[in-house]
Amino acid sequence: MSVTRSLLLAASQNIWLREHASHYKFVRRSVARFLPGEELDDALAAAKVLEAKRIAGVFTHLGENIRDASEADEVTQHYLIVLERIRAAELQTEISVKLTQLGLDQSVDLCAANVERILRAEDAGKTVWIDMEASPHVDATLEVYRRVLAEFPRTGVCLQAYLFRAQKDLQALLPMKPSVRLVKGAYKEPPTVAFPAKKDVDDNYVSLGQTMLRAQRDGVMVRASFGTHDTVMIKRLADFCATEGMPKSALEIQMLYGIQRAEQERLAAEGYRSAVLVAYGKYWYPWFVRRLAERPANLWFLAKNLFSR
Ligand SMILES: Cc1cc2nc3c(=O)[nH]c(=O)nc-3n(C[C@H](O)[C@H](O)[C@H](O)COP(=O)(O)OP(=O)(O)OC[C@H]3O[C@@H](n4cnc5c(N)ncnc54)[C@H](O)[C@@H]3O)c2cc1C
Repeated sequence: MSVTRSLLLAASQNIWLREHASHYKFVRRSVARFLPGEELDDALAAAKVLEAKRIAGVFTHLGENIRDASEADEVTQHYLIVLERIRAAELQTEISVKLTQLGLDQSVDLCAANVERILRAEDAGKTVWIDMEASPHVDATLEVYRRVLAEFPRTGVCLQAYLFRAQKDLQALLPMKPSVRLVKGAYKEPPTVAFPAKKDVDDNYVSLGQTMLRAQRDGVMVRASFGTHDTVMIKRLADFCATEGMPKSALEIQMLYGIQRAEQERLAAEGYRSAVLVAYGKYWYPWFVRRLAERPANLWFLAKNLFSR
C-alpha cells in the first residue's frame, strides 16, 4: 500500500479532521463531485437524471457511528422512508446498507431484525445490498446475510477481493443462491488478511468474477454485480462473458457517483447493466477521504478547489 494511501486511510478515521474539514469551502466544493448533496431529495434528483440515461441508482446514507439500539432503529426508520420515497418517485433505485449502522456492533440478532424490517418493506423484484466493512466485521456481516437470505432471496452482499478469505466465502455462499457485489476493498487491512499488491488483488478480482458470472448463468447465483471503476477489470469480465457466450446484460457494473461518468454511460449505451451508488448525508468525511485514498490524484482536484474562487 502506498504511503499516501495509508496516510489518507488513517486520516479518514481522524476525529479532529472530521470535525474541521466540513467548515472549509474548498473541501465542500470537492465533495460535491462525489455527493449530489446531503439530503435524500438531492439523491432522488440525481437518480432521476441517471435513470434517463439507463443507469440505475443505488442509495446509501452516510451516517455517524451509532451508539445504541435506538440509533440503529432511527437508521432503519430512515431507510423505510427512503424506500417509500423511491416508490413514490417511481424510480428503479435500490439501497445499500452498512450493518454497523443497523446495530451489528450491538448484537447480530438486533441487526438481523433491522435488516428484515427493511427487506419486508422493499419491492420483491429489487435487491437490498449489504456493504462489507473492515475485516473484523466480515464474519458477523456474513452471519446476518445468511440469516436473512433464507427468507429474502433477493438480498445481496458485498465481497472484497483484497481479502485472502474471499474465495472461501464465495464458495460457502454459493449453495444458498446469493447475490454478490464484488469490490476490491476500501479499508486499511494488514498483510495478514489482505493481498498487499495490486496485481494480486486484480487477479483475485477477475478469478472471483468469472466464478460469479458462471454461477449466475447456471442459476446458482441470483445476481452477480461488480463494484469497480477499473476499466481493465471491466474489459476482462466483458471479454469473459463474450467468450462464454453470455449476453452483455449478464454483466452489471456499479460505480460511485461522479467517478468515470463517461464509462458509466458507455456501458449503459452498449447494453451492459450500469448502476451508480449515490451516497448522501451529513457524515460524508470518512467516506470522502476513502475516495481520495482510492485515487490520490484526487488530491490535485482538492488542491485546485483550494485556489479556485
Ligand atoms: C458500487 C460500489 C460499492 C462499493 N462497496 C464497497 C463495500 O461495501 N466495501 C468496500 O470495502 N468497498 C466498497 N467499494 C469500494 C471499493 O472497494 C474500491 O475501494 C473502489 O471501488 C476503488 O477500486 P476500483 O475497483 O475502482 O479499482 P482501483 O484499482 O482502485 O482503480 C482503478 C481506476 O478507477 C479509477 N478510480 C478508482 N477510484 C477512484 C476514485 N475514488 N476517484 C476517481 N477515480 C477512481 C481510477 O481511474 C483508477 O485508476 C465500493 C465501490 C463501488 C463502486
